[in-house]
Amino acid sequence: MSDGTQTGADPIPTHVDVAIIGTGFSGLGMAIKLKQAGRDNFVLLEKDEDLGGCWRDNTYPGCCCDIPSHLYSFSFEQVPSWTRKYPRQEEIHTYLRHCADKYGIQPHVRYRSEVVKVTFCDASGFWQLHLNGGTRLTARVVMAGMGPLHRPAIPALPGLESFKGTRFHSSHWNHAADLNDKRVAVIGTGASAIQFVPQIAPRVKALHLFQRTPPWIMPRPDREMTNIEKWCFTHLPVTQQLYRRLLYWRHEFRGRALNEKSWIHKHAQRMAANYLKAQIADPVLREKLTPQYSLGCKRVLISNDYYPAMCLDNLDLITSPVTEIRGNTVVAEDGSERDVDAIVFGTGFAAADPLQPDFLYGPGGLDLYRRWQEEGAQAYKGVSVAGLPNFFFLIGPNSGLGHNSMILMIEAQIQYILQCLDYMDQHGVRHWDVRRREQDAYNDELQARVGTAVWSSGCRSWYLNKDGRNTTIWPGFVHEYEARMRKLAPQVYEATS
Ligand code: NAP
Repeated sequence: MSDGTQTGADPIPTHVDVAIIGTGFSGLGMAIKLKQAGRDNFVLLEKDEDLGGCWRDNTYPGCCCDIPSHLYSFSFEQVPSWTRKYPRQEEIHTYLRHCADKYGIQPHVRYRSEVVKVTFCDASGFWQLHLNGGTRLTARVVMAGMGPLHRPAIPALPGLESFKGTRFHSSHWNHAADLNDKRVAVIGTGASAIQFVPQIAPRVKALHLFQRTPPWIMPRPDREMTNIEKWCFTHLPVTQQLYRRLLYWRHEFRGRALNEKSWIHKHAQRMAANYLKAQIADPVLREKLTPQYSLGCKRVLISNDYYPAMCLDNLDLITSPVTEIRGNTVVAEDGSERDVDAIVFGTGFAAADPLQPDFLYGPGGLDLYRRWQEEGAQAYKGVSVAGLPNFFFLIGPNSGLGHNSMILMIEAQIQYILQCLDYMDQHGVRHWDVRRREQDAYNDELQARVGTAVWSSGCRSWYLNKDGRNTTIWPGFVHEYEARMRKLAPQVYEATS
């Protein structure tokens, strides 16, 4: 197994059949399946010197996944050795390196190769990828596996530049910063913060936690995998398949709790409220931690140590939003001030705005960033965008989930894209572009469903863009998405030879 730090010594080819951007679950999974299909002419472009996407970047204390290990892994690479029911960041990262090594993907990866712009060359009919440092390569097909959670969202707080202490975002944890016995402000109480706050709270002098909106939290049923389970999974692989199936359907069932009209939703919300009540005896603190929106509107979080951390003497929960930084003072909307030595931003990612400006230009100079700013990010089935031939997104618009494993969605997309490539080859298709009317019809249906669902029930979340449009979530069950991705309908695409 590799140590993860790669030399990236191989030169960047000038032309490839397929260029994949990113080496997270989606980029790696795509690469493995391309290789297994006998398509060797591809390259993975990775900005860092290691692979793993968000599971490489997020190394904050306590970082782990809230989907069980045996489901949060590729269906084709089930390992019996997961040590815990819910995987920790290091173990997921090791798993991804293992997959890259086992399936011979490392020789295809070019590390320290950040794609800064992608343009379609009208003259040649190929995509051109511009890398940092000025290198360029062309590709017949591009697959964007950058992931929706890779661009940290740091609020533009007035006076932030005047702050003299340490400050960093949770996804780029500064391990060199010594937080012991320091006064630390944490901004945000989302999925990341509820994991690192209990880890750092006992060792800092004071933790000022700025909460804008409290999350709904359920218990985290985590534990070590037993030796018997590991033995069974090793010697009787069918038991692991059955276990994965069980997890799959249990999580699909959880999706019912996202339907506000179902009794399961009411039951789940009551369970979460009871959990809060059992954990927090102080009624004033409990009131502060009680969400005023429907469960599921924002991602439901799981934790066993967050509420106990709220009861620590050195933890100060402030429920007024931060408005300003004045020197080393964090100022909240209610006028309260806290002097701190460090600020940690647990403020999430620009997920609803998945594209950075000046990054992607299609034929005729089509600026996708601008189009998505005007219309909201949208794609056909989360993978194809009208006007961008031979370009595929992985975890593109409206293919995220609130209730089950994203790896299932990624695999459904991978096999769909492979069908597109096969069709193109078999029919001599040079350019493959989804028809705008098909994309619109798909999105009209999708928005009608997502717009009346729990995510639109009145809370603020990264599921919604600046116009309140849900551009991130798939509104159905995973099995429905898998069924819709299973068979390609070629007439949906305009094929030119
Ligand atoms: P997040 O869930 O989007 O949470 C961001 C937090 O920052 C929210 O509490 C938000 O408050 C707050 N915030 C944002 N801007 C703010 C501002 N200007 N002032 C004050 N507060 C502000 O981000 P995250 O915790 O990094 O998680 C992002 C996603 O990553 C998750 O939803 C999940 O999909 C994934 N993730 C998964 C895991 C896991 O598997 N366990 C772990 C970590 C992350 P509001 O709620 O008021 O907006």
